[in-house]
Amino acid sequence: TGGAHVPVLVIGTGYGGSVAALRLAQAGIDVHMIEMGMAWDTPGSDGKIFCATTAPDQRSYWLRTRTKAPLNYFLGFPIDRDIPRYTGILDAEDFSGITVYQGRGVGGGSLVNGGMAVTPKRANFGSVLPSVNADEMYNIYYPRANAALGVGTIDPAWFDTTDCYQYARVGRKHAQRSGFPFVFVPDVYDWDYMKQEAAGTATKSALAGEILYGNNHGKKSLQRTYIAQAKATGRVTISPLHKVTSVAPASGGGYTVVIEQMNTNGDTTTTKTVIADRVFFAAGSVGTSKLLVKLKATGLLPNLNGEIGKGWGDNGNVMCGRANHLWDPTGSLQSTIPCSGIDNWAAGGAFAEVAPLPTGIETFASFYLSITKNPNRAQFSWNAATGKVDLNWQTSWKQPSIDMAKTIFDKINAKEGTIYRTDLFGVYKIWGDHLTYHPLGGAVLNKATDNYGRLTAYPGLYVIDGSLIPGNTSVNPFVTITALAERNIEKIIATDL
Ligand code: FAD
Repeated sequence: TGGAHVPVLVIGTGYGGSVAALRLAQAGIDVHMIEMGMAWDTPGSDGKIFCATTAPDQRSYWLRTRTKAPLNYFLGFPIDRDIPRYTGILDAEDFSGITVYQGRGVGGGSLVNGGMAVTPKRANFGSVLPSVNADEMYNIYYPRANAALGVGTIDPAWFDTTDCYQYARVGRKHAQRSGFPFVFVPDVYDWDYMKQEAAGTATKSALAGEILYGNNHGKKSLQRTYIAQAKATGRVTISPLHKVTSVAPASGGGYTVVIEQMNTNGDTTTTKTVIADRVFFAAGSVGTSKLLVKLKATGLLPNLNGEIGKGWGDNGNVMCGRANHLWDPTGSLQSTIPCSGIDNWAAGGAFAEVAPLPTGIETFASFYLSITKNPNRAQFSWNAATGKVDLNWQTSWKQPSIDMAKTIFDKINAKEGTIYRTDLFGVYKIWGDHLTYHPLGGAVLNKATDNYGRLTAYPGLYVIDGSLIPGNTSVNPFVTITALAERNIEKIIATDL
């Protein structure tokens, strides 16, 4: 097929893409969104759209024949299992030194993430996005993003009494006994719904171990917020199981976009060409960086500047567990939705989520995902021999993150007389230092693009996702990605369209 012409094409349906689509549609512009993952709107034979974390089936992983769980060991035994190859929801994308977890489907990362919706402390914003006016962000765009995402905070009285946050109360006790600030963290999960789950009056989701492979209830993913609003305008169409492989200037103006339609085995079934007046790259930090690096290196967008592919960071992610005493059980029922954190950013460069370990049995383990001020930045580059884009991150670059996380957990262990768990990431391995959930950068704002995401060498091409953020947000990233997209699209609509 060919010849189709659209005013705006958006590559990807995560946070950046959904903001762009909604605001453009509200401005009266027709938008076509292209998404390589599935629509995730149809129940499987078990009546559920998403499979449980404890029972992964073909829906769990993106084109893998074996699961690749982030916590891949339990009591020293590997827990991964064989699954049919399928266009599942969670991509564990392997680069040489790191595995980058990403959501695949309409809604992007919002389908698989913990929903922790954290606005950075204002004092830290200058190091997160140095070229962005903080007053505008904190007065206008963060509030706009939080409202549209449906962000809310747990009822503290319920937190104090419900079984499903026993693990977080243990986290609080240990943090406070060691003198660390313990903070509640907002989330997009519907807290009233979770109370009903606990009361037994609603179908369980957060209390049934659902998260990593999707939540069937309770979570306000983008499908229920920005994308629902965008569809309601009547101006937005979405093509799932379609992957953009190329964008290049068209002879008559605008851009020729090559799109491969695939089946659920991941095989290309049709190749389509669309002419778009404007293209928004919203394929996520990894997806956008891979496309732009390839297009520059292979001569389709040769004038992209030398910053393309640079400034990539892992948001300093590192995981660990602690073994508690028998008098500190963390509970056999654990809500999968984290609601709290330990803030040692200023003193130690670490912000640790008190994370669930929803195994269904008492483990006496406390589990944490730390976000740290890791200074290392990696670069994407085109590998002509393999025809793929490489990332030069090295596993040893996680050492600063481990050191920063230890500023919290060494102290807690000393105070409590406890030790690290060594059975969660391998046989005698303490640190989950092989992965990130928070890829950021690769097309950094005000470097690879102008200060609003324009790829200035190519009028009409924009970046509007996590690749704009230079590697670290000091907290979980999606609120910042959303707020920055709100800021940029407002400017672009006002001045470019
Ligand atoms: P994404 O949301 O990644 O969206 C990009 C979309 O583009 C995807 O749907 C992808 O399939 C699609 N795409 C990619 N390439 C192409 C292509 N060539 N053609 C067509 N489509 C393409 N963040 C938080 O703030 N709080 C949390 O609690 C949290 N928990 C997380 C837990 C997990 C397990 C994971 C994986 C992430 C978590 N994150 C969390 C991170 C958060 O989800 C991401 O930062 C966020 O989704 C990134 O938004 P984005 O718009 O940049 O891209």
